[in-house]
Amino acid sequence: MFVGHYGPSFAVKAAQPAIPLWLLFIAVQLVDVAWSVLILLGIEKARIIPGITASNPFDLYYMPYTHSLVAAILWSVAAGTLCKVLFGLRNWPVAAWIGTAVFSHWVLDWLVHRPDLPLYDDTMKVGLGIWNYPAIALALEAFLLFGGMLMYMRRTTAINAIGHFGPPAFGILMIVIQAYIFFGPAPNSPNELAVTALVSYIVFAAVIQWLDRQRRDATV
Ligand SMILES: [Zn+2]
Repeated sequence: MFVGHYGPSFAVKAAQPAIPLWLLFIAVQLVDVAWSVLILLGIEKARIIPGITASNPFDLYYMPYTHSLVAAILWSVAAGTLCKVLFGLRNWPVAAWIGTAVFSHWVLDWLVHRPDLPLYDDTMKVGLGIWNYPAIALALEAFLLFGGMLMYMRRTTAINAIGHFGPPAFGILMIVIQAYIFFGPAPNSPNELAVTALVSYIVFAAVIQWLDRQRRDATV
């Protein structure tokens, strides 16, 4: 999953407006940020298959440190704790929301991945495999993204035209990028995929933070 991961970040922002939206954008992708770094370091591994194919669903990935269930829980606890220490978030429930945002990544990946997500280490791999139906997978990503965004848009109000039109326009752009990933050419190498992912996550977080500044909490 790619842009659908941002649905939970918008939902958490609607529930906890004090948490910066850029931080939530990184939180929901933290597992993939770590994955990208570990791919570039050669510690975790991925095999590129040309296009979307249901063949050989196993052994596409070796990613015990980021995408095993146990690892995802550890990343979530670590991220919540780190945010509490670094940002002095007022109380533990706020840190728990950040941990929940991080953990949402694994749950949503579990829906779409073919069975390549280990429960622990590199064994007992699970995944419901919605990716085998790209049109349905794309619709799910859009539903999650815009569902979360709707909660955020209701909780906040635009202070100018950019704040009004910016988030939906950005959402549409993200869906277009996602569709290109689904139906466009496959990346040339796992490293290329990792770099593209890292750059995307950072740019998306920067853009949404800028857009969020064009809106304010509607309840205060
Ligand atoms: Zn992932």
